[in-house]
Amino acid sequence: MDRHAAARPRLVVVGNGMAGMRTVEELLKRRPDRYDITVFGAEKQVNYDRILLSAVLAGEKELDEIVIHPRRWYDENGITLVADDRVVDIDRQSRTVTSASGRVAGYDRLLLATGSQPLLPEIAGTGLAGVCTFRDVADVDTMIRAAREHRRAIVIGGGLLGLEAANGLRKRGMAVTVVHLMDSLMERQLDKAAAALLRRELEQRGIDIRAGSEPAAILGSERALGVRLTDGCELPGDLVVIAVGIRPNVDLARLAGLEIDRGIAVGDDLRSSDPAIFAVGECVEHRGKTYGLIAPLWEMAKICADHLAAEAGSPSAYAGSVPATRLKVTGIDVFSAGDFRGDASTEDIVFRDASRRIYKRLVLRDDRLTGVVLYGDSRDAGWYVQLLRDGARLGELRDLMIFGQDYAAPAASIAVAAPAPLSPPTGEARGRRLAVARRRPGPRPARKRASRANAFS
Ligand SMILES: Cc1cc2nc3c(=O)[nH]c(=O)nc-3n(C[C@H](O)[C@H](O)[C@H](O)COP(=O)(O)OP(=O)(O)OC[C@H]3O[C@@H](n4cnc5c(N)ncnc54)[C@H](O)[C@@H]3O)c2cc1C
Repeated sequence: MDRHAAARPRLVVVGNGMAGMRTVEELLKRRPDRYDITVFGAEKQVNYDRILLSAVLAGEKELDEIVIHPRRWYDENGITLVADDRVVDIDRQSRTVTSASGRVAGYDRLLLATGSQPLLPEIAGTGLAGVCTFRDVADVDTMIRAAREHRRAIVIGGGLLGLEAANGLRKRGMAVTVVHLMDSLMERQLDKAAAALLRRELEQRGIDIRAGSEPAAILGSERALGVRLTDGCELPGDLVVIAVGIRPNVDLARLAGLEIDRGIAVGDDLRSSDPAIFAVGECVEHRGKTYGLIAPLWEMAKICADHLAAEAGSPSAYAGSVPATRLKVTGIDVFSAGDFRGDASTEDIVFRDASRRIYKRLVLRDDRLTGVVLYGDSRDAGWYVQLLRDGARLGELRDLMIFGQDYAAPAASIAVAAPAPLSPPTGEARGRRLAVARRRPGPRPARKRASRANAFS
């Protein structure tokens, strides 16, 4: 280490996962020489794309294909990586962290990026062999091994992770049953219409769905043998995957006396209640919200890096994110963003083309887009998310946007140039909209025809 480097402040990162390493990457872009960086990771691996664990399970990718930062990235950037060594204590007085192996590292700035822990239902048998969650490489290993040796799997939880696990195990040849508490799959991301389409498609792939069912116990004495439901029904299974939700991993922060509610409380600068300690990712609670998806974490990473890079604060501020979800089951196109539930103050624009299994629902409040559900055609997902984020009045765009950006984009420029009033359009505006509609080359004529015939409800 040269003389210059020795004088640098020390940044310690706890959590070698997606949010932590993205923040480091953003920091290196801004000020590569600002800190001496040490990263502690509880997992054995270097930082990998957790999202793609579903693709690994489905046999579509190998583990080494999902690595984001190989060892040499840490080396090339002078980062000390301490893998497979969980941090167990933070001493805020002496500004040190201690790991499970007894390693002590001093910090000037500490970044907590400890992610989430899978929730476990309070039922007997969750500790049996053959029971796992779906969070990391070790879980995927367990599932792949079980698929080689056994035939039947039960997945508890019909949310995004549960369904991706079910799909992967089915593709590996297992007979799979999904046990889901609610009547509707992915009820936090999809409305009932989209969920019904999804269920049908999964059932056609041979996945058995038990919606509205509650597990009472995992059967077996050493290994899992199945699941008993509260109605007494017993489902045989040699592998039980639990995917019923996550909770922010805050134990370490709590022990250190940081302010915590559901997650580590941070301000718009991603600083915790201790100004020397920042936090990003799923472990964070910002303005009362926690996030379990990647896009918000990327936004946090940028703002946090701005503040870590600055000598004396930065004007950038994190203002919260619009959550967006895409199911990664090959051949099934499902997307949702924002708040799609709606209430008395919202209106829906719905497009339904049953024969092509396409369903789209846009939820609007006060002439602004607040939620989107797309099934069967999510090409315009990015555009809708942009409209959600912008929160601008839709004006002329309102009537056309369900057909997608290609079709409605010229109207978008009108909406931007002259924000529409909340009241119905004037004769002049109406005329302009018709002109726009006539001018349009109609790249998706099938949709347009469907719209006039049966699309709206
Ligand atoms: C199978 C799967 C599929 C997913 N698919 C999607 C998707 O399609 N779209 C999407 O937006 N999101 C998806 N997600 C969610 C996304 O992966 C997470 O939002 C993201 O990984 C969270 O990043 P993080 O850095 O906060 O947490 P993590 O990536 O979990 O990183 C936290 C790291 O900190 C480590 N750690 C915890 N405590 C300590 C400690 N005390 N000391 C040292 N290390 C510690 C953990 O071991 C972990 O490695 C998926 C998640 C899974 C599991």
